[in-house]
Amino acid sequence: MNRKIYQRYYAADWYKRNRKRLLKKTEKYYLDHRPEKLEYARRYRQDHLDKIHEQGRKYYNEHKERLKKYYKEWRSKQGPRKWTDNQKKANIEYRKMFPEKVKCWEMVRAAMNRGEIKRADLCFKCGKPGKVEAHHKNYNFPLDIIWLCAFCHKLESNKNHPH
Ligand SMILES: [Zn+2]
Repeated sequence: MNRKIYQRYYAADWYKRNRKRLLKKTEKYYLDHRPEKLEYARRYRQDHLDKIHEQGRKYYNEHKERLKKYYKEWRSKQGPRKWTDNQKKANIEYRKMFPEKVKCWEMVRAAMNRGEIKRADLCFKCGKPGKVEAHHKNYNFPLDIIWLCAFCHKLESNKNHPH
């Protein structure tokens, strides 16, 4: 056997035998450095927000039909949303972190139930009809809301709260 090929086979075999150990090592490295990595990702996102949005929009426009079909299938397969345990924990943490937001959501929901607030049927910013979400400009004024589509809501929220 040619020496090079022998080495390649040997390496592949060695990798196969040590795969578990290597994966553990990678995992440990990731867990040890998780906060820095998350911080880096967060900062990168913040600094390149326009670029990331631009890329996302471009990709979506180029693959619109395929993506729409994919999401439609995915949604119909998912059925009603099920939260995983980690997501539940994250939700609880989020509610603890931003009690003022939670209070505002609950007040809006209660006012809607009483019929004092009605959900608009189009976005106040871009005018797109369809599903809209309540956007708070200031959480000190819980019932001072405007209705935005998901897309405008994301842009608006990123503007006000950079993270
Ligand atoms: Zn909109």
